[in-house]
Amino acid sequence: MSNGEIIIDHEQEKKELLTRYKKLIKALGPAIKSKQDQERVHKAFEVAVDAHKEMRRKSGEPYIYHPIAVAQICAEEIGLGVTSVICGLLHDTVEDTSLTLEDIQSMFGGDVTKIIDGLTKISGVFDQTSSIQAENFRKIILTLSDDVRVILIKLADRLHNMRTLDHMKRDKQLKIANETLFLYAPLAHRLGLYRIKTELEDLSLKYTQPEIYEDIINRLKKSEDVRKRFISSFNNPIKKRLTEQGFTFEIKGRTKSLYSIYNKMVNKGIPFDEIYDIFAIRIIIESEGENERSDCWRVYSLVTDLYRPKPDRLRDWISFPRGNGYESLHTTVMSPSGKWVEVQIRTRRMDDIAEKGYAAHWKYKEKGSESNVDEWIRKVREILENQEENAVDLVESFKLDLTTDEIFLFTPKGELKTLPNGSTALDFAYDIHSKLGDTCIGAKVNNRLVPISYKLNSGDQVEIITSSKQTPKEDWLKVVKTTKAREKIKGSLKEEKRKVAEDGKEIFERKLRHLGYNYTEADITKILKYFRVNTSQDFFYKVATGGITNHEIKQFYKDESSKSWYSYLTTKLRRKSPDKKQDKTSLEDLIKETKRDGDTLIIGEDDVKLDYKLSTCCNPIPGDEVFGFVTIGDGIKIHKTTCPNAMQLMSNYAYRIVKARWTNRESLAFLAGIKVNGFDEVGIVNRITKIISNQLKVNMRSISFDTSDGLFEGQIMVYVQDTHHLDDLMYKLRQVPGVITVIRMN
Ligand code: MN
Repeated sequence: MSNGEIIIDHEQEKKELLTRYKKLIKALGPAIKSKQDQERVHKAFEVAVDAHKEMRRKSGEPYIYHPIAVAQICAEEIGLGVTSVICGLLHDTVEDTSLTLEDIQSMFGGDVTKIIDGLTKISGVFDQTSSIQAENFRKIILTLSDDVRVILIKLADRLHNMRTLDHMKRDKQLKIANETLFLYAPLAHRLGLYRIKTELEDLSLKYTQPEIYEDIINRLKKSEDVRKRFISSFNNPIKKRLTEQGFTFEIKGRTKSLYSIYNKMVNKGIPFDEIYDIFAIRIIIESEGENERSDCWRVYSLVTDLYRPKPDRLRDWISFPRGNGYESLHTTVMSPSGKWVEVQIRTRRMDDIAEKGYAAHWKYKEKGSESNVDEWIRKVREILENQEENAVDLVESFKLDLTTDEIFLFTPKGELKTLPNGSTALDFAYDIHSKLGDTCIGAKVNNRLVPISYKLNSGDQVEIITSSKQTPKEDWLKVVKTTKAREKIKGSLKEEKRKVAEDGKEIFERKLRHLGYNYTEADITKILKYFRVNTSQDFFYKVATGGITNHEIKQFYKDESSKSWYSYLTTKLRRKSPDKKQDKTSLEDLIKETKRDGDTLIIGEDDVKLDYKLSTCCNPIPGDEVFGFVTIGDGIKIHKTTCPNAMQLMSNYAYRIVKARWTNRESLAFLAGIKVNGFDEVGIVNRITKIISNQLKVNMRSISFDTSDGLFEGQIMVYVQDTHHLDDLMYKLRQVPGVITVIRMN
């Protein structure tokens, strides 16, 4: 009645079931060696059909289609035998239907029961939690060691679920696709099931990154014609030669998997058009037994006669097959149009094994011999058991062959993350969130405290420790391995530098005003050249961070206008006051001279109220000898008479100097900076801050400590009333054990 109702044609479904059953028997082929085998498969089929008869998949299909498809994959795509097909048919019965393990035991015996039990346990491991946890891998291993067919059937199960993932809800799709990418695809790879691995990865990509997936498909489609033309003109000379030499062969251009293209584009940052190995040429020759290797090498020499090979790109997996059984000869050659092309050379047998894994082996030995399947299974078990009984090692070894460049890591909540091998704690932080990276000060790896530069190992559980005070540093770029982290650090540094440079520009312009210059954009070319910096941002950044000092700026202007009155006065003053004591005398003299109108300006509440600002170049506080300077756009600025700028100001702008003295000392707090040096002892920061805030009731604005080689340097900004107050504080600090020097900054 409702629109969503599915109309079921039972007759049609019965026919369809029969077709699928026949197809399954055909795929088993010579693996069925006796009437008893045939009866057992048939019985499993009947039992499964009956057990699932009321169930339907999300798509509306009868549920039984799924176990049949899984059994089909086992037989056809993995090359497993009767027992596995029976288990494939029954794999969901104990979990999802009223059938019990005892029922299975009585009908099919021990082997099948053990495998079904394993399969049921495995799915429990995954479905109970929302994320894969390290402990779960261990559980899988323990299950695996019983019978490796459990994992192979589970792979078939997963492959079919991935193929039919469309009907699932989005969140379920994401969970399944991610699990597939993190566990099943590496597992398939480890077992040499390349075709399945590739399909699992591509399907995962389809659901985790649908836009990118579509984008890659579109790009491949768009470039297809060009690629086909290229491949055929590249292949033609090879075909001709091979035919002349009497080879029976197949030659094809094989496009890289979508997932590996994605990896190159996104993880390695290579644009689609620049991926040179987007396809490879595969030459499969018919050759048997002893001739296989030498035939492959003959083809190699034919190909490299035609096209120049890249010397460092020869991969000989014929003399040294990979651990998972992969055999092939790979070379990269230069096409006439100047494009590198990968050429893979292998025999039919090698190709079958490369695509299907060890399962293909038996076909090439005693035909149809179950013992060879067993041999293969034994070998697979060996691969898996050869690990220490440790989840981490196993996960690591899955990836060992082709992609040693990835490690598996866990968040404190057990979520799985993959990063390139060599990644540090800081990479991990940035992988989770850029904010986490920017404020990272270290990490706890397996509950042990480590620095940000700590190189992570597969299986590590990583908890990032942050501080709101932390900011990204230039040398972090050397600490991280991933492009993602590097880009984020660069971004943050750039932003930081931009801000600092902005401050620097203000500082610089202020300094120039003191010197009586107006900075114009036109000056910048000269300035950059003089200070040997590339950009104005670099220059202002250096000004702000002290990389370019007041003195150097003065020197620049001195050099620029060496014949002006400016230098004349400077020289005159220097002659008049060769040391600091005399500076003070000349200051007073100068201040006296400024009283041209007869009135003396005193900064303070008793007298004329004028707005003033305390200059930031010397941060004067009450008690300091000070003077005022009338700036052009910024009112009166108060400087210490010992301020490095004072001499310049007084010599050049005597008429703009106003006398200033402190009147009300107690009412205000002034910012002063103190630099403390000493031995880096435990608790020293604590002792220092206690003195400041508890004993002397001084407010701190900021405190920062740097330590290296057992020494520390602290910079403390405090609010004080006057110089007495500050002197008192500095005196107390000098009494702290471990403190060596205490000086006022500026
Ligand atoms: Mn299933």
